[in-house]
Amino acid sequence: MIITLDPDAPEPLIDAVMQVASRYPGVNLRKHVFKGASHTVTEVHLIGPSQVIGSISEESFRQMPGVRGVVRVSAKYRLIGRHGRFETPGFQYNGVSFDERTVHVFAGLCAVDTRENVEKTYAALKAFGVVTTRMGVYKPRTSPYDFQGLGKDCLSWVLELAGKYGIRVVAMEVTDARQIDEVRAAVEASGNATGVMLQVGTRNAQNFELLKQLGQQRTFPVLFKRGMGITLEESLNACEYIASEGNPNIVFCLRGVKSHLGDPHRNLVDFAHVPVVRRQTRLPVCVDPSHSVGRADVAPDGIPDIFHVTGQGVIAGASMVLVDFHPEPSRALCDGPQALTLDQLGRFIEYVHRVRALYEELSVRQKLARQRAP
Ligand code: PEP
Ligand code: MN
Repeated sequence: MIITLDPDAPEPLIDAVMQVASRYPGVNLRKHVFKGASHTVTEVHLIGPSQVIGSISEESFRQMPGVRGVVRVSAKYRLIGRHGRFETPGFQYNGVSFDERTVHVFAGLCAVDTRENVEKTYAALKAFGVVTTRMGVYKPRTSPYDFQGLGKDCLSWVLELAGKYGIRVVAMEVTDARQIDEVRAAVEASGNATGVMLQVGTRNAQNFELLKQLGQQRTFPVLFKRGMGITLEESLNACEYIASEGNPNIVFCLRGVKSHLGDPHRNLVDFAHVPVVRRQTRLPVCVDPSHSVGRADVAPDGIPDIFHVTGQGVIAGASMVLVDFHPEPSRALCDGPQALTLDQLGRFIEYVHRVRALYEELSVRQKLARQRAP
């Protein structure tokens, strides 16, 4: 059972709920605090055998001052689930809000190669007022003979330069728990020049030990990429591992699923799942058009396929876009064919924001129409 308090409910009201809940024997209590951009929402979770939870009166909590709602939840998606809420608080990290009301473009290098390319990319982002980027440092590759990423050796300058160009959050994949410590040490050594969002790659979507480690730290939010060959339900359960270990700051990323039916795209684009993930969970949803499409081809309308599918994700309500750019894609050491060039960056950002504005307008109209419906 989840008891949700009013936004910014004062501590004494929260304590009163905790006290009443603690009277039930055999029930474990957990308090979860979600700090969004404008409000903090506290939830009290009552966990225990279903007969015990089933015997607790919802009404006794509903009547208490400061209680906004009470829901009974099945064990599934206990923490990441939406459970009927209309609005979710999201979370804030290093001055950036991750929620349903905003969209952020994380444009950058699939794999960091040279300092010069990192700096050129940051400078282009700064010119367009973008404070979020992706920089692959540890690269999981299909072949052991392919470039594996520069690893921790490049972390200090990747982070310091990010600070110099006003970047607030860098998304980067970690493939092993030791790398979390390396990133933490590097961020501290840089004097917190920037923030990092740790990415779980599609190949690690069910690496439960890594997921637990990411959940046991709350320094960094987590960008979880759906598993390319597992069901959506399995991916959401994997995400629940991170939350159940204590880290609620998760973004769920769709990045296409492996199927030859997606040919000639690299993966079958799955952005139709954006509203599904939003209905089922409280997580902000990200789309990765680069790893979905896998090529920078342009359609006869002059618009690259990567733009087109980004539009599909954003018009469906995605609030983050992870996308590969490179100053010179033909020389990139990883995924060059899908990288957009820096001279496309401005048009890409404009594209995202125009589609987002249309999405917001359409969403408001639909909500009003539903309210007016008899
Ligand atoms: C990436 O974003 O660099 C990446 C490897 O993506 P994925 O795990 O989705 O293949
Ligand atoms: Mn890649």
